[in-house]
Amino acid sequence: MNAALLDYNPPMAPSVIVPATVQGTRYDIVIHRGLLDAIGPALKNLTRSKKAAIVTDSHVSPLYANRLIQSLHDAGIEPIVATIPAGEDQKTLANISPVYDLLLAAKIERTTPLLALGGGVIGDMAGFVAATTLRGIPFVQIPTTLLAMVDASVGGKTGVNHPAGKNLIGAFHQPIAVLIDPDVLTTLGDRDLHGGLAECIKHDIIRDADGFATLEQNIHRAGQRDIDYLAALVAHNVAIKSKVVEADPFESGERAHLNFGHTFGHAIETVSHYDYSHGECVALGMVAASRAAVDLGLLDETSCRRIVSLIENAGLPVRGMKLKTEPVVDAMIFDKKVKSGRVRFILPDRIGHVVIRDDVPAEIVTRAVESLR
Ligand code: NAD
Repeated sequence: MNAALLDYNPPMAPSVIVPATVQGTRYDIVIHRGLLDAIGPALKNLTRSKKAAIVTDSHVSPLYANRLIQSLHDAGIEPIVATIPAGEDQKTLANISPVYDLLLAAKIERTTPLLALGGGVIGDMAGFVAATTLRGIPFVQIPTTLLAMVDASVGGKTGVNHPAGKNLIGAFHQPIAVLIDPDVLTTLGDRDLHGGLAECIKHDIIRDADGFATLEQNIHRAGQRDIDYLAALVAHNVAIKSKVVEADPFESGERAHLNFGHTFGHAIETVSHYDYSHGECVALGMVAASRAAVDLGLLDETSCRRIVSLIENAGLPVRGMKLKTEPVVDAMIFDKKVKSGRVRFILPDRIGHVVIRDDVPAEIVTRAVESLR
């Protein structure tokens, strides 16, 4: 790593460090219990700036901002703090405008790092601010939801929503480090914890059959918030995510595998008007995609049953969807992953491996959605 990044006195508990190289930028993803109180020294090893901006949200700020601010002060770094109202509906251009005002009024420089303290919404918004302020300032992810730890904080996709759709305004901007303190997961709501688990299950289905089997054995530990287990789970998942994005930073090929469950999932998200959380939609989407794969003769029944059971054991929905089938199928046609007029599906042909198919017959898609009701 940045060998000195965790060179603290007194020495800290053992860490897991996953190196990532995306778009030619090498950075470390550090997973370490208690790291939140040591961000200041870590930052001093990453940058010489005497200032750092923090972007956080109104839920996370009262829980964790003071510890981060204290750690920066102790390291002689002056914090500039911007707090955005929490929630996906706040992920707008309008809400980042005051952040630019604050940073420019504080006379930040090209070298001033910006720290994103929060879930995926804050990571995406703060990353976009970092990508666009002074044509790009250094950016550190401090993800506080399981989803942000295992997925959103790695890969450099940043952005905000637009009335025309989610994440339509954005940029690629890689962080200089991702600093993860798994202890913050103790305060995360159940629904958000389960949503993060949906992405973990997804990673193993697309890349790692052994990881899937380990998760089957340990899913109860995640539900009980066994933090040592969650730390190991995060490490396993960032390794998968970073490998995929290293190979295909701009999603021209295999990065699309990360969209497993998302073609069906986004359609459910749109039609349900966000009654289901994103993770719940991905869960239902993975069930539908696995059933479509069985219907196509790609996947065996036993593997499909294992997938559905693991999703259910993670506290996620697998049936009982109240939406009508037809609007969900129609919504898929408008999904942004449509290529040359055909809907692309990521389908498992075994646990640990997926294929991309754009020739799935409409009746199979319809049956897969119908099976969720
Ligand atoms: P989120 O950021 O809205 O966080 C969920 C809720 O948990 C919020 O209310 C937040 O304030 C709260 N919270 C965060 N950390 C907490 C903690 N430790 N304790 C208590 N409450 C806490 O949502 P999310 O699920 O983290 O992220 C979803 C977003 O991530 C979406 O906007 C999605 O587009 C984006 N995303 C981006 C990528 C990417 O590659 N950039 C990948 C996946 C998802």
